[in-house]
Amino acid sequence: MISTSDARQRILAGLAPVATELAGVAESRGRVLAEAVAARLTQPPHAVSAMDGYALRQADVQRLPATLTQVGVAPAGGAFAGTVQPGQCVRIFTGGPVPAGADTIVIQEHIVIQEHAAADGPRITVQQAPAAGTHIRAAGLDFRAGQVALHAGQTLTARDVGLAAAMNLPWLRVRRRPRVAIVSTGDELELPGEPLGPNQIVASNGFALSAFAAQWGALPLHLGIVRDRPEEFARLAGELANVDLLVTSGGASVGDYDLVRSALGREGLAIDFWQIAMRPGKPLLFGKLGATPVLGLPGNPVSALVCALLFLRPAIQRLLGVPTAGEVPYVPALLGRDLPANDAREDFLRAALTRDENGRPVATPFPTQDSSMLSLLARAGCLVQRPPKAPAAQAGETVQTIVL
Ligand code: AMP
Ligand code: MG
Repeated sequence: MISTSDARQRILAGLAPVATELAGVAESRGRVLAEAVAARLTQPPHAVSAMDGYALRQADVQRLPATLTQVGVAPAGGAFAGTVQPGQCVRIFTGGPVPAGADTIVIQEHIVIQEHAAADGPRITVQQAPAAGTHIRAAGLDFRAGQVALHAGQTLTARDVGLAAAMNLPWLRVRRRPRVAIVSTGDELELPGEPLGPNQIVASNGFALSAFAAQWGALPLHLGIVRDRPEEFARLAGELANVDLLVTSGGASVGDYDLVRSALGREGLAIDFWQIAMRPGKPLLFGKLGATPVLGLPGNPVSALVCALLFLRPAIQRLLGVPTAGEVPYVPALLGRDLPANDAREDFLRAALTRDENGRPVATPFPTQDSSMLSLLARAGCLVQRPPKAPAAQAGETVQTIVL
């Protein structure tokens, strides 16, 4: 049995990023960038006002009140063509270009419009003026043309989509979604909605795994159920063209009906490792069937899904070219109850996640941890990680958790 971190490193080493494609910026949220994104323009393109008011020369408002002649207007998207001369000002609006000659913006709340306008233009009296440059956004304040703002391997958020659009990038080069084929193995399984015999159960793993794979950026291909018969595995092996990763659940343990190793072995499965020092999830398997990487997950639903969190998520991230694929997103929390010493297997305990009176997170493992109990996994707020051979732990100690 190898450790979980060794297993993860071997999985990452056995996978390579998939090809790239262009995505419209509007459809790019959640996609992973395949190359850095550099701004195609400078923002703002020139100095603009941050307020509605008047653009004028600081020298004219050294003594207040000061009365000036308005000689033009600079709205957002427009511009005042001339130069502001001594004694002059330009009406300006938020986003309007600061005209040549002006160095100061006085907000409109700080002026009074004279009732008797002069022949050469309206007159305004300035009552308060800020320092030169106040309320002026310099050219390139946000970003400059050529500046790299988003990086290869980054998963695009809604905020990133807005930034890329502002940088005038209608298309972004992203990794195509990895095609992850998912099968459940077992004679006892039926799909939801099928009539069930007395000893049959519903195959739930494929549905949860497909949902996880989609959530993590892959394109799940749910291939349904493979029966515990070598010929069904042989047929599966023939259906893997264009699949980036095959994920099986069940049939990976040591029982007479656990055919993943033997039946896929007959089809040429080269096993990289089998069995890891972890609970739940000991019979994890990784290998290659021809060119197709195979991740064999345990059949017990909780084992399958905890292993998916620890190994399928990084595998998909690796296929997407995410540089941090190997990092488990641990978050510290206070332990909510005493735990006995751990044996040689690393434990991942389903736990309730609450807060103490100081707002600190508290993780309280459920007393029952049977790996068939999906209801407890659905209810859990986090998984508490217990290192191999960890000594007994007391409530209030800090533990690492994976927030669900
Ligand atoms: P196995 O590893 O095939 O022996 O499966 C271990 C346990 O998980 C058995 O009780 C199976 O019935 C159950 N199991 C296997 N596959 C699934 C599945 N897709 N959905 C729900 N339970 C499953
Ligand atoms: Mg089975």
